[in-house]
Amino acid sequence: MRILIIGGGIAGCATALALHKAGFEPVVYEAHPESAEDLGAFLTLASNGMRALAQIDVASIVADAGFPLTRLRVLDASGATVADAPLGEHEDPRTRYRCLRRADLAVALQRETERRGIALKHAARLRALSETDDGVTATFTDGSGAAGALLIGADGLNSTVRALLGPAAIEPRYAGQRVFYGYTTQAPPEPSGHITMIRASGAAFGYACSPDGETFWFARVPGPPAPADEIAATAPGQWRERLVPVLRPDATPAADIVQATGDQLMVTNACDLPVGIAWRTGRALIIGDAAHAASPATGQGASMALEDAVVLAKALTRRPRPGRRTGRLRACAPPQGRAQHPGQRAADRRTTAIPARRARAARRPAAATRLDHPAATRLRQQPQRGRSAAWTVRAGAGPRADSRASVFADMELRTLMVTASAR
Ligand SMILES: Cc1cc2nc3c(=O)[nH]c(=O)nc-3n(C[C@H](O)[C@H](O)[C@H](O)COP(=O)(O)OP(=O)(O)OC[C@H]3O[C@@H](n4cnc5c(N)ncnc54)[C@H](O)[C@@H]3O)c2cc1C
Repeated sequence: MRILIIGGGIAGCATALALHKAGFEPVVYEAHPESAEDLGAFLTLASNGMRALAQIDVASIVADAGFPLTRLRVLDASGATVADAPLGEHEDPRTRYRCLRRADLAVALQRETERRGIALKHAARLRALSETDDGVTATFTDGSGAAGALLIGADGLNSTVRALLGPAAIEPRYAGQRVFYGYTTQAPPEPSGHITMIRASGAAFGYACSPDGETFWFARVPGPPAPADEIAATAPGQWRERLVPVLRPDATPAADIVQATGDQLMVTNACDLPVGIAWRTGRALIIGDAAHAASPATGQGASMALEDAVVLAKALTRRPRPGRRTGRLRACAPPQGRAQHPGQRAADRRTTAIPARRARAARRPAAATRLDHPAATRLRQQPQRGRSAAWTVRAGAGPRADSRASVFADMELRTLMVTASAR
């Protein structure tokens, strides 16, 4: 069954990998001519995101694109340590937090998508879509078209698919903070593996040092949004000179880290989407930021997008339970036969959730299945409430990654991180 995926970013490529692993035929359409749209910012992938990556056999590849974070330290404005604790599922190399550039994550997923023989078409910007009982047709801005059984909108915060699906246009809303990002090799070196959050008096600040001695930092400054023309017209050095005085009154390393930053400094506005928006029609649905963009302050947007990919593939291979209400969005189970990935690493191969479910589904003749699984719906509607609980990765050796204790510990740490960085 051919499934059209609009957007070849984090959610789109992860979904292509998950659907391909489950035996479907995904085709990805990405607007950007070469890679994916990106601001140049970095992100942290939390344990729930890493667990989702493990389920689609790319945890090792993504882990290689970044560096691990195993401890969280929280400082107050006086520089005093108010918390210092292990971070997430730090004992398992596949599920410990990772820090990496957003573009590197997208490129790693795109490369793996292509390496597994999944079609990924660049310079394909969706303009319109139409549905019938039998399928869906996408039309692109260059006038070309594509047809499939289902269409997945993974086209980010300003989603075209969302605008085409919903009865009313849902616009992203400003989350009250300008976000500065920077990289420097000139800051005083610190041990790698730690992320430090600072409750500064004028901003929330965070930084982590890579094993190569590069400091990745962000600052979230409350206030009005930066207009697009101001962002375009302001040089990195000018932003730096505006930010340093905000941080300088505090006795923390923040101001010196920013002062030591050259041209690798950028600014954006934190945005999110209201919850409870329409996210599907009969043959199309939205995932990732298109459906539930969260402020960068949550540190969860990418991880939730990766979870979406796995939930969707599982939902498409799952048969509705007898007696339960079925939704309008239905799809046939994928063809028999397990998709093999020659380069799949041994560590990743130990995760079995999708193949096991897919194999069970494939044994059922003409199994019908639903996309509107209640768990997926719940997860979208409650993006901050412990989505990890829906996941299982059995990693062989080591603790069970989905034990309630680790889920709640992870949630507490996430809460701590958000609390530490929110103002
Ligand atoms: C500055 C910043 C910092 C962040 N920090 C974190 C963090 O620390 N941790 C975390 O988990 N998350 C973080 N996030 C959020 C995270 O980056 C997003 O949640 C994640 O990228 C969502 O993935 P996505 O694939 O849904 O959307 P995107 O990554 O935006 O990908 C959408 C893709 O769709 C393509 N596209 C758009 N329109 C069309 C169209 N009409 N046709 C075809 N293709 C189209 C775009 O080119 C793009 O490649 C951050 C986000 C930002 C902006």
